[in-house]
Amino acid sequence: MIITDTHTHLYSELFEEDRELVISKALELGVERFFIPAIDSTYTDSMLKLEKDYPDHVFLMMGLHPTSVKENYKEELAHVEEMLASRKFYAVGEIGIDLYWDKSFLEQQKIAFKQQIQWAKKYEYPIVIHCRDGFDEIFDILESEKGDDLFGIFHCFTGDYEQAKRAISYNMKLGIGGVVTFKNGKIDTFLNKIDLKHIVLETDSPYLAPTPFRGKRNESSYVVQVLEKVASLYNMEVAEVAAITTANSKVVFGV
Ligand SMILES: [Zn+2]
Repeated sequence: MIITDTHTHLYSELFEEDRELVISKALELGVERFFIPAIDSTYTDSMLKLEKDYPDHVFLMMGLHPTSVKENYKEELAHVEEMLASRKFYAVGEIGIDLYWDKSFLEQQKIAFKQQIQWAKKYEYPIVIHCRDGFDEIFDILESEKGDDLFGIFHCFTGDYEQAKRAISYNMKLGIGGVVTFKNGKIDTFLNKIDLKHIVLETDSPYLAPTPFRGKRNESSYVVQVLEKVASLYNMEVAEVAAITTANSKVVFGV
C-alpha cells in the first residue's frame, strides 16, 4: 500500500529536532510520497536540502503563499519566476487568497495568484490552491483563467458541496486532510457524494492534525487517520482508497 501526502511542510522548523524520525515513521506506514508546497523565499534552501536528503520521496513545488504577499511581493515573485526557470518542480503552490489574518494586501494577493497561474500554464504544471476566507475571490480568478491548461488541487478543502462541485469544474482535485476527522468539520457530511477520482489526501503538517492528535503538531504519518476516515465515509477498504488517491495524485503531479 502506497499512501501519498500531497501537502506537507516537512522543511518547517517545527521538525528541526526529529525530522528524520518523522519521515521514517511515515515511510514505515507506507506514506512514501511527500509533495512539498513552498511558502516564500526564506524556505527555499531548506526545501532543496530536504529533496537532497530524500530524493526518492520528496517532490517540490514552487510558489508564493498568499500570507507571504506583503510590501516586497514583487521581489518574492521574481524569486519564484527565477526558480521555475532554473529546474523542474511538480506544481506551482501554494498560491491563492487568505483573508483570515490580513485583508490589507488583497489586491496584491490577486495579482500574485493570477501571475503564478500564468507561470503554471507556461510550464504545464498543476497549481495547488490555498484558500482561507477567499472562495469568492478565488472562484472569480479561476473563472477568468479556466481551460484545459488549468488544473491542480484545492488544498485543505473546507467548503460546502456546491463549492466542491465548482472547484472540480475547474479541473481541481479536492485535497482532504485532518478537517475531515473533526466533529464540526462539515465536509464529512457530503464528501461521499463526490466521486473518489476527485480526491487526494494530505496532512498540511505541521498544521491541522487529525483526530485524535487534534491541536498537536501534525506529521505525514497522520495521513493514515485521514485515509481511514475517508475509507469509512465511502464505505471502502483502506487499501483501495490508498491506491485510488495515490493514482489521483499521479494524474495531477505527473509522477
Ligand atoms: Zn500548506
